[in-house]
Amino acid sequence: MEKQKVIALVDCDSFFVACEQKRDIQLKGKPVCVLSNAEGCVISRSKQAKQMGIRMGEPYFMAKKEHPKGIYIIADHDYYAKVSGQVMAILKDFSPYVHVYSIDEAFVDLTGLTRFYKKNYHDLAIYLRSKILDETDIPVSIGVSSTKTLAKLASDKSKDKPKGVYLIGKRKAIKELKDTKIEEIWGIGRRLTKSLKRHGVLTAYELVQKSDGWLDAKLGIHGIEMRHELIGEMVSPVTNEEKPPKSIQNTRAFGIFTSDFNFIKNELNRHIHTSCRKLRSYKTKCLQIGVMLRTKDFRVFYTKKDLLAPVDFELEISTVAHKLLEEIYRPDILYRSTGVHLGKIGETSAEQLSLYTDSEITTKKENLAKCFDKLEAKFGKNIVQTGFTIRK
Ligand SMILES: [Mg+2]
Repeated sequence: MEKQKVIALVDCDSFFVACEQKRDIQLKGKPVCVLSNAEGCVISRSKQAKQMGIRMGEPYFMAKKEHPKGIYIIADHDYYAKVSGQVMAILKDFSPYVHVYSIDEAFVDLTGLTRFYKKNYHDLAIYLRSKILDETDIPVSIGVSSTKTLAKLASDKSKDKPKGVYLIGKRKAIKELKDTKIEEIWGIGRRLTKSLKRHGVLTAYELVQKSDGWLDAKLGIHGIEMRHELIGEMVSPVTNEEKPPKSIQNTRAFGIFTSDFNFIKNELNRHIHTSCRKLRSYKTKCLQIGVMLRTKDFRVFYTKKDLLAPVDFELEISTVAHKLLEEIYRPDILYRSTGVHLGKIGETSAEQLSLYTDSEITTKKENLAKCFDKLEAKFGKNIVQTGFTIRK
């Protein structure tokens, strides 16, 4: 069995709003909301916006009508990624093991750092929090415990603590589990909650009382792992590897309404290019391509196709995507946005093994794609235009 670890989950508070407030200090202390896009939904809220009663996911037109005093800003994901990089760089400097879990969350292995920093774990978390705030202007909450699942629970509880830090130590653990409803456990969704409640399991404590056999029958291996993590036995250690996402999507409003096929196709190509770059950054491929069209009156048309072999290259993906676009496009409709969805990432198909593939062409394509990524890393995003994306 592995030695006891000390794991922190560092979670940025209202991250997108915090980024906007970092860029424009006038926004601090105001009811700020970030919107998914020009016509989209609220995806991040400041404390004042929450107090005003603006809800998460509320469509802009409703929020604006009900709360005209709110300040609504369109998301700038490139900027948020840059700020996220600054926060993560501090964490990676702080500990040798950091698992960046999402744009605004990371697990940090603090084991043994008390000696190096000459602080106990509680003070270490407070120190890390103020360091991030001083250097990046981004407030974070930190949960500390002995596994990822418990650290996540601690971080949820740290949100309303004045110092933004919460520890679940060995002695507190049982009381914490009794106080935790099963739906508050990381990884337990609505469906699982329902089924567990049907079996009389209402709290995390009641869950860990169940035997491995019972958990395996009801929840599978995932249930057993969850029980171990909740009683402080690590299943998933903090490593520096980042798991690729299950899917990647890119979409953005045109800013106009149009039925111009070439215009839409060009927009789609830009999304394909961005998605491929992300896909390749994880050194993986996708086996499914989806294309979405949203009309002026918010109707959504979507179609997808499974491929015979995984791909990560824009020219291959666009060949399929253009056919899908043609399937759902109608010249008499005005559209407001298009998007691409790359699914089944990292999966392999049964057919591909028997498929004859021209390895020379494959290598050439791979080299070309690598070349795109290198150029962009050096000269900036979208420096490469593949002939099918044309600048306006
Ligand atoms: Mg957050």
